[in-house]
Amino acid sequence: MKITIVGTGYVGLVTGACFSEVGIDVTCVDIDELKIENLKKGIIPIYEPGLEDLVHRNVKKGRLHFSTKLSESLDGAEVVFGAVGTPPDEDGSADLKYVLEVAKEVGRHMNDYLLMVTKSTVPVGTAEKVRKALQGELDNRDSKLEFDVCSNPEFLKEGAAVSDFLKPDRIVVGCDTDKAKKTMERLYKPFTMNGHPVVFMDVTSAEMTKYAANSMLATKISFMNDIANLCEIVGADVNSVRRGIGSDSRIGTKFIYPGTGYGGSCFPKDVKALIKTADDFSYSLKVLKAVEEVNEAQKSILITKLNKHFNHDLKGKTFALWGLAFKPQTDDMREAPSLVIIRKLLEAGANVKAYDPVAMEEAGRILGDKIEYGQDQYDVLIDSDALIIATEWPEFKFPNFNIIKKLLKNPVIVDGRNVYDLDEMKDREIDYYCIGINTKK
Ligand code: NAD
Repeated sequence: MKITIVGTGYVGLVTGACFSEVGIDVTCVDIDELKIENLKKGIIPIYEPGLEDLVHRNVKKGRLHFSTKLSESLDGAEVVFGAVGTPPDEDGSADLKYVLEVAKEVGRHMNDYLLMVTKSTVPVGTAEKVRKALQGELDNRDSKLEFDVCSNPEFLKEGAAVSDFLKPDRIVVGCDTDKAKKTMERLYKPFTMNGHPVVFMDVTSAEMTKYAANSMLATKISFMNDIANLCEIVGADVNSVRRGIGSDSRIGTKFIYPGTGYGGSCFPKDVKALIKTADDFSYSLKVLKAVEEVNEAQKSILITKLNKHFNHDLKGKTFALWGLAFKPQTDDMREAPSLVIIRKLLEAGANVKAYDPVAMEEAGRILGDKIEYGQDQYDVLIDSDALIIATEWPEFKFPNFNIIKKLLKNPVIVDGRNVYDLDEMKDREIDYYCIGINTKK
């Protein structure tokens, strides 16, 4: 089987590499010439555990190819996946210009029946727009070629994308013809043989499922952050509360860790887009609006704590920041909480020295020389007034506290991920602030 993936970003590259791993002939297409040039040389544009090996192995086997020309990759392709970005428009809706451009280009160049699958996260009604865009180009060519459209939203998690794709909890497919259903069944068979189910449904429900899933997860995070803030006020310990509620199987232990608010390339934009979809249909998603409001406020929580500790005098102070990526095991900094913290510190006249195991290059692209970058996690502590934990990378979990105390000007840690033990911080005489526990009572 031969397939084409259009958009070679986090989703497209992982999808392409994983399909090629099970023997499918895959061409990954992108308009970013440098990205494709680098991939051809074996340079992987993103950090994702296991991805580099997978790409190198399948390129070597001749099953994974890279191209900037969609037109040349369509020969013999049974399925074309659209995995391009759907960034938020000014009004919060998902901008579909890349998705529709891909559909048009497929329509301009396809030369046989194919199945056009949307993997990007797109609002309800997009499949119809894709169908029209593609058909419009076929009509322009007076072509009678046939095609089907299908919605196959992606649920991989950055940082665990390869294993999520190879061993998915479920695969959601929305299609409305038997032919499309059979093709998708065949395509995903290698991943479903071990019991991972494909959930077939209509296209609109598939489009909705992706937004509902991300919105549910964002809701859990904001709910827990709200509870954490109340815990601090009333003197409860959110870690105990979390364990107490997480043990209830109806609630579960995942996504109930308080922190500095959700970020990343998906939750913020997907929550916004779903709210906008509902608004467009004159329905107000009240819960999700509150989820956003709580998240916005939560992004400033560490600054509030720093202001309290330093009597609202952050000007001229230097802060060491551990963790730039929006979560561990990725270099993705889209909507990372660290960016809000850095921006607010800079606005207050403070200096920032940051370290992240893999996101320093990406941070350099976004922040340039507005901040300093450390060689390692201890380097940034030298002459800093406090340490801020923004991402819970494993290597930050058991640091050498003697070195931290020796290098920092003041033994102050403001922890946005609740990674350290309160008693240990007390014993070591470190001024410790975290989320959802009043450590100063
Ligand atoms: P990304 O920005 O990493 O990659 C998108 C790629 O598409 C870029 O390389 C860009 O150059 C390319 N592109 C844009 N227009 C193109 C065109 N006309 N032809 C060829 N290539 C083109 O984006 P991503 O994070 O991979 O996300 C892609 C989609 O998947 C989005 O809708 C996103 O919401 C969704 N999604 C992302 C994740 C995630 O964790 N990143 C998870 C699930 C779903």
